[in-house]
Amino acid sequence: MSKNKDYERGEISQLKDKIRALRAELGVRDRKIKNLKSELKTLNAALSKSAMYIDERLSDVSIETVVDYFNDKVTGRIQDIEKVHKDSQESLAKKWQCHKCDDGFLRLVIINRHDGKHYFRKCTHCENRTGMQKYTNDVEGIV
Ligand SMILES: [Zn+2]
Repeated sequence: MSKNKDYERGEISQLKDKIRALRAELGVRDRKIKNLKSELKTLNAALSKSAMYIDERLSDVSIETVVDYFNDKVTGRIQDIEKVHKDSQESLAKKWQCHKCDDGFLRLVIINRHDGKHYFRKCTHCENRTGMQKYTNDVEGIV
């Protein structure tokens, strides 16, 4: 009878030790999560500030252009993005130069219809324009 009780006591104290160890582990994990959350909050704030900084300085450059720029670069300056944007706009203007008046270029006009996005191109200088076509993401041009 008493032997049995000793056995029970031993088992209970072992279980208590296990619970203590698990609680300690949970405490460490909770602290890690808390630290990660605070790091994320800091990163998020920094990211918001960066986005605002870029947005204020590159008002006519789309966010896609900025993302494209950084896809193959680790760092970059606002002026570099601006230059890449200007160069691509210039080469697009040259590529879509109007052959009716030779003064303007065909601007891309995208239209949201009930059956999906469509587009046509219209000269910035004369009445020249193309027919309406279905828009896909690889349609290029100056909007
Ligand atoms: Zn034209």
